[in-house]
Amino acid sequence: MSEYGDGTRSAHAGLPPAVPGEPFLPGPVFAAPYHLDPAAGPAAAANGYGRPDNQTRRLLESAIGELEGGSALAFASGQAAVTAVLLSLLRPGDSVVLPTDGYYPVRGFATSLLSELGVKVTFAPTGGPHPDYTGVRLVLLETPANPGLDVCDIAVLADRAHAAGALVAVDNTTATPLGQRPLDLGADISLASGTKALTGHSDLLLGYVTTRSPELLESLKAWRNTTGSIPGAFDAWLAHRSLLTLDLRLARQSANAAAVVTALASRADVTGLRWPGRPGDPSYAVASAQMRRIPGVVAFDLGSAERVARFLSASRLVAAATSFGGVHTSADRREQWGDDTAPGFVRLSCGIEDAADLVADITGALDAS
Ligand SMILES: *Cc1c(COP(=O)(O)O)cnc(C)c1O
Repeated sequence: MSEYGDGTRSAHAGLPPAVPGEPFLPGPVFAAPYHLDPAAGPAAAANGYGRPDNQTRRLLESAIGELEGGSALAFASGQAAVTAVLLSLLRPGDSVVLPTDGYYPVRGFATSLLSELGVKVTFAPTGGPHPDYTGVRLVLLETPANPGLDVCDIAVLADRAHAAGALVAVDNTTATPLGQRPLDLGADISLASGTKALTGHSDLLLGYVTTRSPELLESLKAWRNTTGSIPGAFDAWLAHRSLLTLDLRLARQSANAAAVVTALASRADVTGLRWPGRPGDPSYAVASAQMRRIPGVVAFDLGSAERVARFLSASRLVAAATSFGGVHTSADRREQWGDDTAPGFVRLSCGIEDAADLVADITGALDAS
């Protein structure tokens, strides 16, 4: 499939070979135990018990693996995926570098639990400067970073990390595997929350980890099997079904973001506008060189929490909601969750509505607030 374009690859990702009378995407298989061969036991078949073995989840994993260009493991949520990487790789005395401006529950997890376990945790901003990686075991990058949308050069940082003997994991949530393929850029691990744009219908939680290293794959698989952090069969199936339209959804979201950014850029009552696809944005140069498409997520500041509330109340198309990447446009005032952003900071996630409707709605709501 790798020779095809994004639309073809998304629509066919992970689908089994055609079998007359069978569906394109087989329905979810619900099983805790499976029938065993009475004599040969688990050795006789691929499925013995639901925690390690589920055919619906394996199909989803082959889809994600095809898109990322590695072997994939699905997890119950993005947090389950990130913490699986951190906890399975890091030991007391190890050193890890995380993004200052990355997903805030990951930062919280690192400063509390990882530090208590004796892991040395340091932070570096996604936009740089990046530290010397001597003595570091793992570098976690997040690009574009959520919610500030700074971008870093994965290939350059992966080279530097590898020269120092460190492993590199990239949180690919905001970009999705159609936006960039961190494994192609030299990362050892590409992981993400599938809750966001990857599945895009705001109806499930999912995480995944991909790698080309058989050793890392085995240790992550063992970690997942012992901790039990698997997605259920129905969520895995729903995720796969949603994934098939990834190319279409991202294309519209990105086009909508471009239109919204153009409208916002001319307004004096909107400050701190950030979108990696906008010429002049601090992330523009690296994003243009590194990314195959720009996500539909935009950041800006409306000055106060009260104005954000008025804006959201006045809008008919922008839902007040956390998370992002869904088919419906949504906006989140990040400070209300404890993210260290300004009170008026908004992360706007453009959905798949018509650009003209969205721009008119957002402009009208800003005028009214
Ligand atoms: C949402 C998010 C996560 C966590 O994913 P969940 O599916 O909510 O557990 C991790 N990293 C980033 C960048 C995210 O946006």
